Amino acid sequence: MDVQKPVTRFAPSPTGYMHIGNLRTALYSFLIAKHDGGKFILRIEDTDRERLVDGAVDIIKNTLKITNLRYDEGPDVGGDHGPYVQSERKDIYAEYAKRLVDGGHAYYCFCSKERLEALHSDDDTHGGYDRHCRNLSEEETKKLLASGIPYVIRQKMPLEGTTTYEDAVFGTISVKNEELQDQILMKADGYPTYNFAHVVDDHLMGVTHVVRGSEYLSSTPKYALLYDAFGWQRPVYVHLPLLMGKNADGSVSKLSKRHGSVSFQDLIKDGYLPDAIINYISLLGWSPKNTESEIFSLDDLIKLFTIDGINKSPAVFDFDKLLWFNGEYIHRLSFGDFLDKAMPFVNKDVIPENVNTEKMLSLLHTRISKFSEINDRISLFISLPDYSNDLFINKKNKVDIDLARKIINEATELEDVEVWDNDTIYSKLIAMSEKLGVKSGAVMWCLRIAVSGMAVTPGGATEIMEVLGKKESMRRIMVAAGKLA
Ligand code: GLU
Repeated sequence: MDVQKPVTRFAPSPTGYMHIGNLRTALYSFLIAKHDGGKFILRIEDTDRERLVDGAVDIIKNTLKITNLRYDEGPDVGGDHGPYVQSERKDIYAEYAKRLVDGGHAYYCFCSKERLEALHSDDDTHGGYDRHCRNLSEEETKKLLASGIPYVIRQKMPLEGTTTYEDAVFGTISVKNEELQDQILMKADGYPTYNFAHVVDDHLMGVTHVVRGSEYLSSTPKYALLYDAFGWQRPVYVHLPLLMGKNADGSVSKLSKRHGSVSFQDLIKDGYLPDAIINYISLLGWSPKNTESEIFSLDDLIKLFTIDGINKSPAVFDFDKLLWFNGEYIHRLSFGDFLDKAMPFVNKDVIPENVNTEKMLSLLHTRISKFSEINDRISLFISLPDYSNDLFINKKNKVDIDLARKIINEATELEDVEVWDNDTIYSKLIAMSEKLGVKSGAVMWCLRIAVSGMAVTPGGATEIMEVLGKKESMRRIMVAAGKLA
């Protein structure tokens, strides 16, 4: 028997940025299709003409490209079910809306804006529509249509009974039909509503699994009724758990800007790697089976991802955890890749000529968790901060000011070193500690303070000195000698 392969879609509205929750929806939708060798479609839902944002579609396409969520059908790649932009499908919606009207499942509504506004203040209708036009005769409807009065088309909801559907994550969802509004399917401007367009498209595009955020859980009975009205087979519904953010007081609320960067673009700007973001968000609402590992490539995820691993309890976005993942991914990059990705974050204008930028960055490769940390971490190479002599005092290495003075005075002899690299400087410092009869740790400590002016540095004394070059290192050692004198 031919088992049907899943067809899923990602159907964003072009809002101008990619919220991390939307990206998770795209990822899960992609994984559900790809796990079983199915198809993943990109569809742009731009029927809300007032909310259109220039360049928004490019952001969506770019995000999917960077994250490798390749779609088999979509606006730029084509396919058998196009167009894939809803504003280019107006005629299709008009035709299907007409079919519903003819079949008695929808009706024309000519109510004016003023009338509808007045209704909203009327408590009896709970802000909804009072079905004023639901029972217009065919003749009346024809007359009104001919007169050119603007109209919308509304779904004729059943007045009794319940509508039930099975959600693959949340289980059985039922609503009483009396609670369902006669929602608008086609607007007065000739555009369909989301409520209508996505159902028509999902059917015509052969979508088998509708994957989206749980905010649609409660309106899905209305969509299921549309499938029934058309006589179409309902898709499998896969609603994803809410994404929450941690508040300062320990409580959680819907993930939003006040929790930090929540758009993919902002995270990229902040120096997160796409693969790390994808790995982290894959775990926000899904748990793999039979593995303790947390690090997954997209290929791993395709193999592992199954719908029954999706949890229904809300997932909390933890920025510290994302940072940890990102650090892991940065540390695993080859040094060449690390350099390529790090370079754009380096403020090159402020780096003095004496500094070897590549060597400097090599000190950071395993020490940063996101690329935006770079400029902070390299400040010591740009200029020597003003520091207090107390910084030399170190219990562990038994360094007091007198010993520091002795070590730094001795270090002025480094002027004679000809080959200025890490290994040579290191052996000189070891020899120096033997000569002075002190622990090598004490020498390294004092030199580190002298050349960086900081107690915590990326790399030890000799590495920093190599990056700074001989001239600047010696200048800093002389500054220290002067301070300690
Ligand atoms: N355009 C809708 C949104 O961005 C899509 C919802 C759906 O996937 O059905 O929320």
